[in-house]
Amino acid sequence: MVVALHRPTKAIVRRSAIKHNVAAACAQLKAGTELFAVVKANAYGHGLVEVAKLTRAAGATGLCVAVLDEALELRRAGITGPILVLGIVDPEAVQLAADNDIAVPVAENSWLHAASQNLTGTKPLRVHLATDTGMGRIGFTDTAELQQAAAFMQDEPAKFTLAGIFTHFATADEVDDTQFKAQCARFNEFVAALPQRPRYVHVANTATSLWHDACHGNMVRFGVGIYGLNPSGRTIAHTPYALEPAMRIESALVMCKHVPAGTTVSYGATYVSAEDEFIGTVPMGYADGWLRRMQGATVLVDGHRCPIVGRVCMDQFMIRLPHAYPRGTKVTLVGRDGDDEITLQDVADFAGTIHYEIACCLSERVPRVYVD
Ligand SMILES: *Cc1c(COP(=O)(O)O)cnc(C)c1O
Repeated sequence: MVVALHRPTKAIVRRSAIKHNVAAACAQLKAGTELFAVVKANAYGHGLVEVAKLTRAAGATGLCVAVLDEALELRRAGITGPILVLGIVDPEAVQLAADNDIAVPVAENSWLHAASQNLTGTKPLRVHLATDTGMGRIGFTDTAELQQAAAFMQDEPAKFTLAGIFTHFATADEVDDTQFKAQCARFNEFVAALPQRPRYVHVANTATSLWHDACHGNMVRFGVGIYGLNPSGRTIAHTPYALEPAMRIESALVMCKHVPAGTTVSYGATYVSAEDEFIGTVPMGYADGWLRRMQGATVLVDGHRCPIVGRVCMDQFMIRLPHAYPRGTKVTLVGRDGDDEITLQDVADFAGTIHYEIACCLSERVPRVYVD
């Protein structure tokens, strides 16, 4: 996709925030536990390669991504060290993973057999056993099948290295830990069923690392915390260290006009000015990831909260200003302006979703700008 460089809209990512968040998470790890930075989905919209490098420099010993292509992009950028893909890779593509030293999960024996046929045996594929302990997404649910997978890999050492076992919690960000505890217990049974503990035993996402002491893993898959976002949203406010939000989103007015009462704004003419008003146009829309349902939310201009009036268009939206401002006046969509601040959490609250989705949905058209 084309990156819009000749437009004032940008996502500004503060390197020091990412470094702080990762270093703080590393500092509270138990001895012998490693942190892998989860940089899937373009590092939750923050920029895959740049964030991967920052997290490695701040103490992450490995990286996790969702799909093989993200892992390959990291290798192309010259990034070394362990990389784990978290989603199921096509069995046809496993040789590519092996050649690039990229670890992948296995969730079914049929996948393992198919993968085996696509491996030449020149270099073993690193595999992590995925166990489904209650997430209902990917992973073994049956202990005997898990043991068969481990045995199959042991019999094919040229093709497979059993490198890890893991699970994923469905409710680590909730106050009630009933389901969490049940998943932990089930995971411990799975681990005990293996002839030996693999190199990596891992269960913790950010929420688990913040609020639970779980399952004696030796690696943490630290995702949303990298970006300074609380995985629970507003549910659990307390965190053992301060999370510093890394991203702000800024744009600028491309036009400001004085309109009489009765002027309609945007598609469907859903907004009609009640009086003499100043309407500003901001060059960002739903094609940039600024959702159409943000109509009625506010942005900051010169320390004022200004409402988005009329429907958000594909590439632009309009706001009501307290008075005239020149073209080029800064508009803060996410971040601080004066004494006021709009967070990704505020945006998510308004849009009826979670901050993860707002950050990930920022499209490639929005340039990512890195500042210290
Ligand atoms: C995305 C993901 C994570 C990271 O989750 P956060 O809530 O962002 O920390 C960890 N593990 C798995 C399996 C994931 O899919």
